[in-house]
Amino acid sequence: MRILITAGPTREPVDPVRYIGNRSSGKMGYALAEAALTAGHEVVLISGPVSLAPPSEAEVVRVETALEMYDAVREKIAGCDVAIFAAAVGDYRVENSSGTKIKKNGKSLTLTLVENPDILGSAREVFGFTGFLVGFAAETGNVETNASKKLGRKGCDLLIANDVSRKEIGFDSEQNEVTVFSKNRSPHSFPQENKTGLAKKLIALIEKSASV
Ligand code: C5P
Repeated sequence: MRILITAGPTREPVDPVRYIGNRSSGKMGYALAEAALTAGHEVVLISGPVSLAPPSEAEVVRVETALEMYDAVREKIAGCDVAIFAAAVGDYRVENSSGTKIKKNGKSLTLTLVENPDILGSAREVFGFTGFLVGFAAETGNVETNASKKLGRKGCDLLIANDVSRKEIGFDSEQNEVTVFSKNRSPHSFPQENKTGLAKKLIALIEKSASV
């Protein structure tokens, strides 16, 4: 299968030297890319700025901002059978980012933030994607309720949820522990393990689910 994976954070510029970002390391998305390649699939990896080396066999598109990630996904998703959205996309960007470095002037500074498009939420209706769609949900509570709602709202076949309020798993950690929600089956929990091992299991589950 041809699998599109988004990974890493996005950076939303404030001025040429500053940005609004988040704590995503890209490790989960990169581990999924690695596992998918090992399982014999083709991978298009659309990656925000991370300090990881991408697998050499993947087709890699590097982006910085959510809008760049949106454009890259729109361009690449058409030929894919599966799309996995593991990126932590910034929900907001600075409306008028400055072309020059903002100097302090002793006063407070107000930045106006505008919403970024929801890339995963655009996959079905805007990009016309008819393949197998997998989303992630980083939650800090009410994981089950929020994840089930997100599954339906974003048109996903599977939604992989983790509780990022727990320090030992999730963002910028080697380990993860997730619960997978699907339209037709009861939730499936994967106990805590390193992201490499977990990625192999998730790719196996996606293969099985996508082919029925
Ligand atoms: O709504 P929330 O941000 O929690 O949804 C998370 C899921 O949606 C993840 O799969 C993430 O990659 C994706 N997402 C996206 N574009 C956004 C926000 C989230 O693709 N602007």
